[in-house]
Amino acid sequence: MRRKLYYILFKDLLGGLLITLKTLFKKPVTVQYPRESVKIYPSFRGRHALVRDPETGLSKCVACLKCVQVCPSRCIKVTYEEDVNGARKLLNYELEALRCIYCGYCEEVCPVGAIVLTEWFEYSDTNRESFLFDRERLLLNWDEFVKKYTNNVYTNKFWDLRGVPEVNKPALKRLGIQVNLQVLKDRG
Ligand code: SF4
Ligand code: SF4
Repeated sequence: MRRKLYYILFKDLLGGLLITLKTLFKKPVTVQYPRESVKIYPSFRGRHALVRDPETGLSKCVACLKCVQVCPSRCIKVTYEEDVNGARKLLNYELEALRCIYCGYCEEVCPVGAIVLTEWFEYSDTNRESFLFDRERLLLNWDEFVKKYTNNVYTNKFWDLRGVPEVNKPALKRLGIQVNLQVLKDRG
């Protein structure tokens, strides 16, 4: 019995050591953050932003409310006013990021690519207020993101409508939404 027990323990010990030995020479899957930078994949969904229209410097949002309707967390609130022709003007866009589940539906459904979950992930804080984004804060989120973004053209894969036939997509989506960041960067 004792010999059997020794045998089992020794076998397990050797098995464990073998695993250690094997992983010792493998490339680590973790990084020493924040000393090492993290590779961000194109499908990463991070901090929300309202895209600043390079031409006007304002938000591209047309207050259609599609994002409000589709959001499963009910964390978006859009207020707007209408002119005599019924054209809408965005007054405020509020987003409670702590309730967001980062599904990306809001950016997928937006017909003009106005809202985006940027690849920015470093935004921890110790109070709730920091995660209540209003229109200005969302535009600033975009500016901060763009400053660190090295390419001159930005697009997001979730601006496309997955599984929807081309013919049924809004015109801009059929063309593929892109933002020319060079204009913004030139303005400083
Ligand atoms: S990512 Fe999803 S949960 Fe978050 S705001 Fe957009 S639609 Fe709502
Ligand atoms: S779907 Fe886009 S354009 Fe419509 S309200 Fe939301 S952000 Fe604005």
